[in-house]
Amino acid sequence: CGICGCVFFNSSVTSLELLRQLQQNMARMEYRGYDSCGAAIQCQYRDGDPGIELFKAVGSPSERFWPVVEAGIDQINPGLIQPIQLGMGHTRWATHGEAGVPNCHPHVSSDKREFVVVHNGQITNFAQIRNYLKAQRNWDFYSETDTEVIPKLALYFYEQTPNATFPDVVEQVCQVLDGAYALIFMSSLFPNEVVATKCGSPLIIGVKSDSRLHLSDCRTSLKRTESAAYANAVREEVNGSDGAAEAGYQLDEPNHMIYKPSDSK
Ligand code: GLU
Repeated sequence: CGICGCVFFNSSVTSLELLRQLQQNMARMEYRGYDSCGAAIQCQYRDGDPGIELFKAVGSPSERFWPVVEAGIDQINPGLIQPIQLGMGHTRWATHGEAGVPNCHPHVSSDKREFVVVHNGQITNFAQIRNYLKAQRNWDFYSETDTEVIPKLALYFYEQTPNATFPDVVEQVCQVLDGAYALIFMSSLFPNEVVATKCGSPLIIGVKSDSRLHLSDCRTSLKRTESAAYANAVREEVNGSDGAAEAGYQLDEPNHMIYKPSDSK
């Protein structure tokens, strides 16, 4: 599958335009799998409350995602421009659980969306984690995926260490996970922050002065070369004519890439 994250700051990108950007990035990675797709964005609901809204579709990002956006966009303020505009998307090739809406990413810790995750890879010890969480907490699981244990594990750790930072929580989660993963996290507890991490699955970060892009793949060679090569790849394959990426690189392992407002210059 393919995952992507988009962070824009001090820009004029609306929530609707952010969704379109996510859709385009998901569609570019469709060759990695396309049985279903989904996205999450930080948004404002019609009543004015902030939140994280999800859009999920069975089928490919290029064909099935936008109708779901059109059907659900009235739930939120589509013209909202925020100082930090962020979202993430997923195009799925199922490993655990059929291609149905409950199994579409992003997956969540609970309806409160304390932690929201997109995942490329497989968690080999997900059944043990799920059993452990069910024994410790009486949480509902919404899907048959291996992925859903990840946001729930994040909530489990957060509840035990509520002063932890967002990367601290992700770090604790990663210490438990076996298997392969590239992950992007959003959180209603940590608005305006995104954490991305990887182990065994690809993840590329594109850095521009006014945005960050996280991508499973930019459809060029992923061999480790100079960062300029990644910058070019990100620019050509992702940004199109939108302008040059100032830096781009493949995330090292183990490593966590966090975006915070203080990073913006
Ligand atoms: N294992 C996850 C799932 O089945 C992710 C699969 C993927 O990489 O698309 O949902």
